[in-house]
Amino acid sequence: MTMLSQRVKGISPSATMAISTKAKEMKRQGIDVIAFGVGEPDFDTPEQIKAAGIQAIAEGFTKYTPPAGTPELREAICAKHWRDYGLEYHPNEIVVSVGAKYALYAAFQALCDPGDEVLLPAPYWVSYSEQIKLAGAVPVVVETREEDGFNLDPARVAEKITPRTKVIVLNSPNNPTGAVYSPDILREIGFLAIKHDFFIISDECYEMMVYDDAQHFCVAALEPEFKRQTLLVNAVSKAYAMTGWRIGWVACQEPIARAINALQGHSATAGSMNQRAARAALTGPQETIREMVAEFDQRRRYMFERISAWPGVTCARPQGAFYMFPNFASYKGRSFQGQEIRDIDYLGTLMLDQAHVAVVPGSGFGAPDYIRFSYANSMANIKAGLDRVEAFLRHLD
Ligand code: PMP
Ligand code: GLU
Repeated sequence: MTMLSQRVKGISPSATMAISTKAKEMKRQGIDVIAFGVGEPDFDTPEQIKAAGIQAIAEGFTKYTPPAGTPELREAICAKHWRDYGLEYHPNEIVVSVGAKYALYAAFQALCDPGDEVLLPAPYWVSYSEQIKLAGAVPVVVETREEDGFNLDPARVAEKITPRTKVIVLNSPNNPTGAVYSPDILREIGFLAIKHDFFIISDECYEMMVYDDAQHFCVAALEPEFKRQTLLVNAVSKAYAMTGWRIGWVACQEPIARAINALQGHSATAGSMNQRAARAALTGPQETIREMVAEFDQRRRYMFERISAWPGVTCARPQGAFYMFPNFASYKGRSFQGQEIRDIDYLGTLMLDQAHVAVVPGSGFGAPDYIRFSYANSMANIKAGLDRVEAFLRHLD
């Protein structure tokens, strides 16, 4: 008898989590590592949000909540969708989850049967492909190209549709590319979904992080008939620097929400005090978001200028989220201290081991020639980290 199930044997560990764990371990050993690896705001959770969590604990709000989340938080989530997009949801169409990650996991579990196909634009965030496989479904990759700014081409999506297509995953602003989809593109995808009767899982975790002239559009709000077809996934993690609080949600039609609610009732439900803090985030002052995004924008401009100047490296200018995704393909075949760089994942590993800069190699994102650099780090660290990478690249033969 084999020990592990076929289901878990088929999945890879999260590349983002693996890098951050390794970088933390190196730091624990006293090595001065600069972290461009894990994507999480380096800002602290705003005070009024922390205070709401502390108050919840002080009041004894420390017990189970309904598996779909507290009515108060679900109402606040409905109000947020109304305020930001004019979308009207009822609390029974909202399920609060343990971060957007679990909301996505539960959404795939709720929608997919074995053999169903899920259209997945690549490069993609590392967990989608594995969550799709965990639901027994098949990820069907739709390439996006650096020369198009990693924009999604609806014609390429159309080519991949089959009678087994059940879902398309949209993630705009995109992790790892920073692409932000235009309303025209989103509309075309929405009409394809209606015509061929598949669902859209739209992960809008980075909705607030857009730069230059880019604007975020919520696909569910673009045409009245899109809302039924869409599961909106979001979280307080990024916008309010609350990654450790683990609060996300899905907004969708009631029968799907009911199924996810039942699934969560048997698996994982969000902490009570964390939900209070998330409610304070959504209903309280929103200025901190603007301040944080302005800071990210400065770092983005600086990092983009420097990375674009690296010899042999190309980089699409990111319009959203907080990542650069440069292409290192031309470094294949070069060597470090006699060791040939056969693939770019190895180059990424060397950046951590030799230059002590944590980055995420692109293969986990379905883009093996690339390396992801997060700029959710202080300007001083960004400068020092880029200096180190530059010095390291100069040492390659
Ligand atoms: N979606 C994307 C695109 C992400 O980058 C992340 C990482 N934070 C998540 C979902 C998961 O978010 P959370 O921390 O709320 O689980
Ligand atoms: N989403 C972030 C990232 O891509 C956090 C890590 C994770 O949840 O995978 O780095």
